[in-house]
Amino acid sequence: MVFACSTSSLLTDMDLIKWFTLLMILLNFFAAKPIFSYSNSFTSKFLDLAKEPNVVDWMVDIRRKIHENPELGYEEFETSELIRSELRKLGISYKHPVGVTGVIGYIGTGKSPFVALRADMDALSMQELVEWEHKSKVPGKMHACGHDAHVAMLLGAAKILKEHEKELLGTVVLVFQPAEEGGAGAKKILDTGVLDNVSAIFGLHVASNLPLGEVASRSGPIAAGSGFFEAIISGKGGHAAIPQLSIDPIVAASNVIVSLQHIVSREADPLDSLVVTVGKFHGGGALNVIPDSVTIGGTFRALSKESLIQTRQRIEQIITGQAAVQRCNATVSFLDEEKPLSPPTVNNADLHEYFRSVAGSVLGINKLKVMQPLMASEDFAFYQEVIPGYFFTVGMENASVERLESAHSPYYKVNEDVFPYGAALHASLASNYLLKLHEGVPVVEGKYNDEL
Ligand SMILES: [Zn+2]
Ligand SMILES: [Zn+2]
Repeated sequence: MVFACSTSSLLTDMDLIKWFTLLMILLNFFAAKPIFSYSNSFTSKFLDLAKEPNVVDWMVDIRRKIHENPELGYEEFETSELIRSELRKLGISYKHPVGVTGVIGYIGTGKSPFVALRADMDALSMQELVEWEHKSKVPGKMHACGHDAHVAMLLGAAKILKEHEKELLGTVVLVFQPAEEGGAGAKKILDTGVLDNVSAIFGLHVASNLPLGEVASRSGPIAAGSGFFEAIISGKGGHAAIPQLSIDPIVAASNVIVSLQHIVSREADPLDSLVVTVGKFHGGGALNVIPDSVTIGGTFRALSKESLIQTRQRIEQIITGQAAVQRCNATVSFLDEEKPLSPPTVNNADLHEYFRSVAGSVLGINKLKVMQPLMASEDFAFYQEVIPGYFFTVGMENASVERLESAHSPYYKVNEDVFPYGAALHASLASNYLLKLHEGVPVVEGKYNDEL
């Protein structure tokens, strides 16, 4: 009731005209501002753009070409050339080679601030068993982890961002990296220094078991760090019927493997996830001969770098110690050159909030899911050790059509309907991040690497 007072009596006609004029000026001001605000239609506009048939068809075509010609880590020469030729057609400048086959593209002012988007390019050494028109043409090699889709979606984002280049308030750095599958391609890219000035980096992975149009992620550890080991346990070979004259490395290796299992069951905090798996055991050939030596090998995974390093130390101690108990010698290698220790993928908490706000406006807040951490590893973690980084998964399951096999299956399939979502999310995350920095709003507080 009190609010029904006659304010009109306090305002003259002149006042009203002034207020009206001021309102119009303000409206014009906001209309003229760059349209990067995730509270308005910009992000949904990106999704609309990414869903345009010509953009989708173009992404699908690129992905199928890459799928037909899978290349392993550091051998992605034709994939890299295909990416560069598309970037040239789009008028996007790039650096190449970066980390053997890597390509780094630039869209925007060419000046700071820089925000990076990453796609991996490598395939797996396995035979595709899906029979379809664009099946791998290279025997024993297959894109079974969706990296062909990742490249297509990042090119999709590049196309959209290039069309809006004048509105970008800084530079988007496109990172097409080699050798994600155990080759530490991310580290190779970082070592070149091309990402030294980057303020934040985003990466995504397609997910077979998440509905299309949804994304999943979490703050903190999202994927495990991983390391590999191989050991040679040497004894003294001889006749199987005269064991007292031999030193049996088969029995020693068996004890080593049983003892390794105690790291997880007896030494690790049950609430701190850890995996130690021996996947290789080679020794002997004849049924009546004790061999000279046995080779074993495996992998270890942890959600914190501390646990990862601790586990590595214990693996070495247990192999050499337990072998000695059985009178054998053991040498342990952690394959630091071929398969360097990969840190856990740990999402920055501030970027998690930022991601939720952007992805929520692109897809709708009900499409954001919380992801359980995986004990698989993802070399995006290398970027996160030096740059605030955020990794998320994009759903591609359409249960009404078919259930998709998980990654690394010879029956792995990509639902290409996911492409507009990945492209729009990439484009929105990068453009809005530059806007935030331009407005002087820090998205990331403090020093990110404190978590590791
Ligand atoms: Zn993979
Ligand atoms: Zn992958």
